[in-house]
Amino acid sequence: MISYVDYLRLLPKTELHCHFASTMSSELFIELAAKHGVELPTTDPDELFDFAHLVDFLVAFRFAHDVLRDPDDFERVAYDGVASAVADGNLRYREYYVNPQYFAERGLSYTDVIDPIIAGLARAEEDFGVGFRIVVAINRRADAASAVDLVREMIAYPRPEVVGLGQDDLTPENTEDPGRFIEAYALAREHGFLLTAHVGETDDATPDAVRIAIEELGCDRLDHGYRIVDDPAIVALARERGIGFAATPLSTTICSGWTIDDGHRIRRMIDAGLAVNVSTDDAMFFRTDIGREYTEGLRLMGVTAEEAKQIALNGIDAAFCDGAQKARLRAEFRAAFLALDAALEPERQSV
Ligand SMILES: [Zn+2]
Repeated sequence: MISYVDYLRLLPKTELHCHFASTMSSELFIELAAKHGVELPTTDPDELFDFAHLVDFLVAFRFAHDVLRDPDDFERVAYDGVASAVADGNLRYREYYVNPQYFAERGLSYTDVIDPIIAGLARAEEDFGVGFRIVVAINRRADAASAVDLVREMIAYPRPEVVGLGQDDLTPENTEDPGRFIEAYALAREHGFLLTAHVGETDDATPDAVRIAIEELGCDRLDHGYRIVDDPAIVALARERGIGFAATPLSTTICSGWTIDDGHRIRRMIDAGLAVNVSTDDAMFFRTDIGREYTEGLRLMGVTAEEAKQIALNGIDAAFCDGAQKARLRAEFRAAFLALDAALEPERQSV
């Protein structure tokens, strides 16, 4: 017999919302900083990741990109990140947001960044059976024209593993404003890329950002989206369009100051019938892992075993991989669910 915490940790999982640099371990971050002579404010991981709010975090997030320079750095982060997520929470499939614009500032080209990441993730797929895709993300601090240039690079250097476009960070005014990048999104869609965007995340964000991402950008799924529960009409729109939401429970305790309990916005999204899936967002910075998002995040929201299994399956539905890969993942997940259900103590299903 296993406890509910073990059950949640062992449940097979997808992760659709994680930023590549954030899958690095703090030890590797410190090691790579030393390798490249990047001076960190402290080499104590406990102090390195002390943030008061989202904007502080975003400064540190950009800093982490500084230590990734050689192909070997990208490959190591890619491979090691998969190995730890398998150990921490039975990860079976993952999609990564990669921001080539951060690296362009340091002289690395689009392919200098994308190709070693693909090489590291492909090696991890062979060793651990964890499938992957890459979503190129617009840095919202950049202007709309450079976002279009970024999509032109995706088109010029096609890679079968690169399947989508997203947007993250905040604008120079610290807003979301997803509609600013409408031209880049239209170009990406025209060339067959699937679309997502970070919207409706913080208290300053509006539910309308969620509507714009769905109706004007044509997003296939969304990241965060928490403000949606303030507008029933947009909840109805998202349900009708089958939009999946890649929610990140533990990062919200820092970025939004929300307590994880049964009144949490993610819990309310689940209750509203939205197709929520769960990810770490920025594991290194928020000291989380994909296992903890379930064992701490979802459990403290009162999510039951049935709901947790549905959340895991929602991740397959919203993934940007092809139908055959989704079918294989669903079969693998359902077989694992049967074994885990049989092992779970009946009275422990939501404790
Ligand atoms: Zn994110």
